Amino acid sequence: MTGTAPRPPRRSTLLRVTTVVAAAVPLCTAGWFGWQALDHSDPAGATAAASAAPATAGATGTPAAADPGASPLLPPVAPPPTTDAPAAGTPAPAPAATTTPTAGATTAPTAAAAAGLAGRTVLLDPGHNPGNVAHSAEINRQVDIGNARKECDTTGTETNAGYTEAEYTLDVSRRAREILAARGAKVVLVQDGDRPWGPCIDERAKAGADAHADVAVSVHGDGGPASGSGFHVIMPAKVVAGKANNAAIVEPSHRLGLLLRDHFHAATGEPYADYIADQGLDTRSDLGGLNLSAVPKVFIECGNMRNSTDAKHMTDPQWRQQAAQGIADALTAFLTTQ
Ligand SMILES: [Zn+2]
Repeated sequence: MTGTAPRPPRRSTLLRVTTVVAAAVPLCTAGWFGWQALDHSDPAGATAAASAAPATAGATGTPAAADPGASPLLPPVAPPPTTDAPAAGTPAPAPAATTTPTAGATTAPTAAAAAGLAGRTVLLDPGHNPGNVAHSAEINRQVDIGNARKECDTTGTETNAGYTEAEYTLDVSRRAREILAARGAKVVLVQDGDRPWGPCIDERAKAGADAHADVAVSVHGDGGPASGSGFHVIMPAKVVAGKANNAAIVEPSHRLGLLLRDHFHAATGEPYADYIADQGLDTRSDLGGLNLSAVPKVFIECGNMRNSTDAKHMTDPQWRQQAAQGIADALTAFLTTQ
């Protein structure tokens, strides 16, 4: 979707539904709920996203996209198990030679890898804020994301036992910061439990440029159907509309997305989501954090907090450390293998 066409009536209806439901049910609009309400109920948006990111279809068909294990900073990454093979009806993988953007670039340690991450800056964006729930007026304010207007922020979801997404994202981001800082990177968190709410999604996107970051990851947990499990990575579709122009970050963000999918899977053993995305990868044009980012950025929905198995993982500090390891390893691979 380019944002120049009038908004389809159905989208408006669904947005109103979203607003009503949000008052009663905590949600993470970056994941399944937003996907249901926006992307996949809107043929125009889905078509635009698909046409704007031609590399994605091929990329999603190649589970073992890279060999970042060649970096001395990183553990080897095993190819995803065959149990993650696409379900019946999913398009067959394309030839690897045409869908491996970093093939050849990761076969030998680079000088940057040998020197660690000194001089590099990483932005970590812990989704939501534990204080959002008490600041409805502030977070419900509409902000401009280029091709639409959207709530400043949301409360995020939570497990059935009440462990919140905002607690999860902050904890994992802090753990990832520690790992990356030990490798020499400067790490900036968009929020570090040091503000009462927010920031808004447009500020979160702007934070990458403000920090002069080389790369950014937004950490989330999803609120999908209880029967669904697994993680997925959300990459930016090209959005050139209004104040948004993310054309320059689409390709590097897709490279980051593949690395994050592979490293997160290797570090946690978490399967690819079985209720959303394709082979753990999605591409979207309705997220302000991606539309407005000036630095390569992806989102990761680390699991489905409404699923009992994923909830057990995400409430376990040891698993969260593995999650942080996967995120940190992916960012390291991105920065050390161009
Ligand atoms: Zn979220």
